[in-house]
Amino acid sequence: MKQTPRERRIEMRMEEGTLARDGFLGDDPLRLDRMDVDARVLADAGISREEIGEVLQGLWQRARALMGEAYEPVPGVTVEVGEARGRIPCPFGHPGIYAKGVMTIEHGDRVLRVSPLSIHMIRSHGFFGGRGSMFRIEPDAAADLVRRLAAPAWQ
Ligand SMILES: [Zn+2]
Repeated sequence: MKQTPRERRIEMRMEEGTLARDGFLGDDPLRLDRMDVDARVLADAGISREEIGEVLQGLWQRARALMGEAYEPVPGVTVEVGEARGRIPCPFGHPGIYAKGVMTIEHGDRVLRVSPLSIHMIRSHGFFGGRGSMFRIEPDAAADLVRRLAAPAWQ
């Protein structure tokens, strides 16, 4: 796909060793075009990136308040936050800087890794990470998680 200069700049910031040692694109042959594919998956799932962002942000805040202790927001989902030093800007190139840190969400046999920056990129940009990258979340896995958390355990 022919890229605009802006898209080219975003992709360069996402490369390994620019903003983050491992970069954001993984080994995904689609590179930034993955975003279009992910948007279609989400549309089919009937869940918005804003809803996913809200849920992940809520889990993050509660996990942070527990200071590293794991918790179960609903049975079958376990959430834990690990500390990391430093901050990182958004590769989409607007003001804003995000604390490093990793939240691990175990949901059935799936393990999702989330950072404050990845939550922001999902919510504001619809970027779920390149396949093979550390913070890649498959949009259908995120949609399953949102549904799981929306359905109270007693239903
Ligand atoms: Zn951004």
